[in-house]
Amino acid sequence: MQRVYLDANATTPVLPQVVEAMRPYWQERFGNASAVHGFGRGARAAVEDAREQLATLLNARPAEIVFTSGGTESDNQALFGLLQTGDHLIVSAIEHDAVLHAAEALGERGVEVTRVPCDRSGVVQAGAVREALTPRTRLVSVMLANNETGILQPISAIAEAAHGMGAWMHTDAVQACGKVPVNVQALGCDLLSVSGHKMHGPQGVGALWVRNGVPLRSLIYGGGHERRRRAGTENVPGIAGLGKAAAMAKEYMLGSGPAHLQGLRDRFEAILLQALTGVEINGRLADRLPNTANVRFAGVQAEELVIALDMQGVAASGGSACQSGTIETSHVLRAMSLSDAEARGSVRFSLSRLTTEEEIETAAAIVITAVTRMRSLRAA
Ligand code: PLP
Repeated sequence: MQRVYLDANATTPVLPQVVEAMRPYWQERFGNASAVHGFGRGARAAVEDAREQLATLLNARPAEIVFTSGGTESDNQALFGLLQTGDHLIVSAIEHDAVLHAAEALGERGVEVTRVPCDRSGVVQAGAVREALTPRTRLVSVMLANNETGILQPISAIAEAAHGMGAWMHTDAVQACGKVPVNVQALGCDLLSVSGHKMHGPQGVGALWVRNGVPLRSLIYGGGHERRRRAGTENVPGIAGLGKAAAMAKEYMLGSGPAHLQGLRDRFEAILLQALTGVEINGRLADRLPNTANVRFAGVQAEELVIALDMQGVAASGGSACQSGTIETSHVLRAMSLSDAEARGSVRFSLSRLTTEEEIETAAAIVITAVTRMRSLRAA
């Protein structure tokens, strides 16, 4: 059975060149990057090279990059590192749980939290953020690209509004990095989260870009690593892999790759729309990542469809999470004013740089057969 992986927003395979960049740092070139001897200096050089590679991808200064254990830690560090009891925090309703649950925890510690909605097209409007700002607002956190729909958010306009009220601006760019150009200067934000495994780098490593001058407190106490911003011996192989993945993402972005990827995604959507009735693309009218298709099938349960597709070798993701026997519909789709039934019938297909045209044709045919069969069983 041919297997087709269309769940790249969950994780991506590590590219062979990235594995090669990591390999020596477990073995012949191992070392603690804080040690003064040759082993340590070699490891330190790898960490600093990676810092430069990631800074180049983001158009940032290397000294502003803090390596972390991934996107979740970067988001937590940004929020907990800036906010204290009595502060006001603004997040959007469509954030990843790494931001939403951190915001909830801060709420329990006396931080006032406002959740700004998105509009029906899935966009968080700068005007909505502006209305929520108060003189006590210390941080605004809105993601650059949504993980479920791929919808891109107007970060520079939101950052301008935040700065107008004296607040800092954080953006979770975990899904955007490696798929669209991410330039911290153009975005105008102050903090930005990155994750390795969403851009063909390793799992368990990421970074927080912190603009020079942002008064961020470190969450982790220990040694003076990462200029006292993140204690703990650096994950040298992981960081070397993240650096290589960033360098490869930069190269990819300069070529025809993103346009090709978008062509494949558009073709996938077009085949489904042509072959099936009762199909809609969630967020179709907004600017989206080139790799993400969030497809709504009338009369279909996403969880059932995801399982049926898996049995045919196609990996996709349901928009809902099954927790303790109850199906919770996607907070992102609900924020876009979809009904529960519409959200329950939505499946995310996310392509990677390695997805081929043949895979798209195969997967689309399998989806069409599965949806047709599920609908006919329901009608019977
Ligand atoms: N933020 C977004 C938008 C994500 O999609 C994810 C992962 O799904 C994360 C944060 C968490 O990143 P990590 O898996 O590196 O902790």
